[in-house]
Amino acid sequence: MPSLFIEFQSQVEAVKQRHTAGEINQNERDNLIRQLKLNDPTWGDIWMLSPAGDWFRKAKSSPTWVRDFPLDLVELPDIPIDHMDIHQVAKTIHGCTHCPLCETRTRAVPGEGPIDADLMLIGEGPGFHEDKQARPFVGNAGQFLEELLAGAGYKRSDVFITNVVKCRPPNNRDPQAEELTACSDYLDRQIELIDPKVIVTLGRFSMARYFPGESISRIHGQPKRVNDRLIVPMFHPAAALHQPRFRPLITEDFQKLPQFIAQAASFAAQPDEPDDLSDAEQLSLF
Ligand code: SF4
Repeated sequence: MPSLFIEFQSQVEAVKQRHTAGEINQNERDNLIRQLKLNDPTWGDIWMLSPAGDWFRKAKSSPTWVRDFPLDLVELPDIPIDHMDIHQVAKTIHGCTHCPLCETRTRAVPGEGPIDADLMLIGEGPGFHEDKQARPFVGNAGQFLEELLAGAGYKRSDVFITNVVKCRPPNNRDPQAEELTACSDYLDRQIELIDPKVIVTLGRFSMARYFPGESISRIHGQPKRVNDRLIVPMFHPAAALHQPRFRPLITEDFQKLPQFIAQAASFAAQPDEPDDLSDAEQLSLF
């Protein structure tokens, strides 16, 4: 596989050289690059390189191109996770055998989105379609999530989306404590690298990272400041699809996101809240 990607890159380079040599104009260069596609024989994904040099991947069963990076091109040095970049973290996740979920997954789902995203969404774990496409939040819940983001003025490609466990629990059962623990270093490193202004937890298991023992019905939509970041617990989109009474609640919570991001952006210039404020008191500040 690495040689296929390298060969593909050289085809793109050949088009660029024709442009540099004056054989084709800029439009012809860009169109020719867009037409080049690489079919991945292992997973059936299709890859392309944009004229600007960004990699995009489309799963066979998906209509959507997503910004991604071919892991075959990523060197995986033998370094601790807290020294890895985002691609090295993703590659490590794809090869991870730290918990029993590796035995039943089709593909691990590291997450996707811009490395400098202001907003990070953390769900529970991949489901059936996610496990096939190696993408988080596809299928009905993903479509609803995109509607919720659009209602707040964001595109899916604006945000980084991931889960607390990166491999699908069999039959969509809840992730178990040892699986959450085994997977937590990956999420910690992703948060450290992306450094989002706002993290939205979607569902019980991501909420429990920041609000242990709390009830989502009681605290949904109420942000908590953690250092220079806001953590906002929300219902999982799948829950809102299954139980219509949650739908207006999650819609309303998502619509507050621009306000939360603006609040968090101002934190860098403000001192932290005093240490002796309880979580409950901090919640009431917003
Ligand atoms: S769920 Fe996380 S810890 Fe378990 S195998 Fe997948 S990547 Fe590794």
